[in-house]
Amino acid sequence: MRPFPRDFRIRAARIFVRRNSGTRTRVGFKPVGGMYISFATNSDSQRGRHMAETRKTKLLIIGSGPAGYTAGVYASRAMLDPILVQGIEPGGQLTTTTEVENWPGDTEVQGPDLMVRMEAHAKAMGTEIIGDIITDLDLSKSPFTAKGDSGTTYLADALVLATGARAKWLGLESEEKFKGFGVSACATCDGFFYRGQEIVVIGGGNTAVEEALFLTNFASKVTLIHRRDELRAEKILIDRLMKNPKIEPLWFHQLDEVYGTDNPLGVEGVKVKHTKTGEITDIPCKGVFVAIGHAPANELVKDTLETHMGGYVVTKPDSTETSIPGVFAAGDLTDHKYRQAVTSAGMGCMAALEAERFLAEHGDDEGKDTSLPLGYGAPVKEGA
Ligand SMILES: Cc1cc2nc3c(=O)[nH]c(=O)nc-3n(C[C@H](O)[C@H](O)[C@H](O)COP(=O)(O)OP(=O)(O)OC[C@H]3O[C@@H](n4cnc5c(N)ncnc54)[C@H](O)[C@@H]3O)c2cc1C
Repeated sequence: MRPFPRDFRIRAARIFVRRNSGTRTRVGFKPVGGMYISFATNSDSQRGRHMAETRKTKLLIIGSGPAGYTAGVYASRAMLDPILVQGIEPGGQLTTTTEVENWPGDTEVQGPDLMVRMEAHAKAMGTEIIGDIITDLDLSKSPFTAKGDSGTTYLADALVLATGARAKWLGLESEEKFKGFGVSACATCDGFFYRGQEIVVIGGGNTAVEEALFLTNFASKVTLIHRRDELRAEKILIDRLMKNPKIEPLWFHQLDEVYGTDNPLGVEGVKVKHTKTGEITDIPCKGVFVAIGHAPANELVKDTLETHMGGYVVTKPDSTETSIPGVFAAGDLTDHKYRQAVTSAGMGCMAALEAERFLAEHGDDEGKDTSLPLGYGAPVKEGA
């Protein structure tokens, strides 16, 4: 992807990912009230070039979020010549947000901009980046077989799965309109922007209660909107919530509409509907946190790999190894707890190093002598 000129500001911009005619992925930014700028990803042309062929690789990385690109950087530097398949959302979840203030080394960076840089970094190190979507994965024998939507078949001695997760949304038009501009699904990511302001949290489970409690560190008032009069969270969390003077629960209500300004795009309040009477109440607020859960993007492996906690891929402790040797999982696909860009990137690094070690121990079909340690991923010898 061509980097943006230094002074190109995409603050208050939203990224769009479009697939044209099932063969090309295009990405575009729509500055608020401005024109729509669309450009092909690097991999557009590659996608066409590799159609209906078979590609053999030592390491296939599935996913182009922080976990996938970091795995690409490390695997390339370990001379594994990895192929990375980007999926429907090149750059992953961070392309759907604006300011990111907790990526080390950047006081503030735009999410899409950061992901453009990560892609360029992985590419510069030698990762082959392909705009394709894996539609089928056979992990029953080695090499593993991945089928691409383009018609390409990928054969891989080892795999890094980095397909991420998605926040669950309510599906309202107004929610979509203000996503990234006052509507968020991540308190850790965005809470800081609402210092001294009134916000609402939607939901009634552990996620909602945890997010509401966390947000009281910043907000002057948090209204927790729940469809019932009973929370589905752990008792200890409910106790904390009820004792917190900044949180006001609003029972038997659901979000009806988010409203705000168009230029600049920003939230001014919500309209909530009583679930029994249908009465509409107006709540002025600057932020709306939808906290109705997350779902890992596990479609490719939910029947073949061990999962837990609602579908997150299980990895061995302190490792990215899954229940199938040679298959490593990194990022939000496996992480139900932290769900951050930096933790995902960390796991992407671990996965690449562990894949390198796996390939060194198990060899590959290119006749390479794999008895020698290959670098940082190699087993540490006792007494060394
Ligand atoms: C609105 C929003 C704001 C956020 N803000 C912050 C923040 O400020 N700071 C922070 O640290 N975190 C933030 N996060 C969380 C952060 O984005 C995630 O933790 C992180 O992106 C997870 O990285 P990942 O690499 O695991 O996966 P993701 O970023 O989810 O990427 C998954 C990738 O997998 C690909 N994929 C999926 N299925 C397939 C398939 N079948 N074939 C090929 N590819 C596939 C997708 O195309 C995508 O590229 C935010 C999240 C959201 C939604």
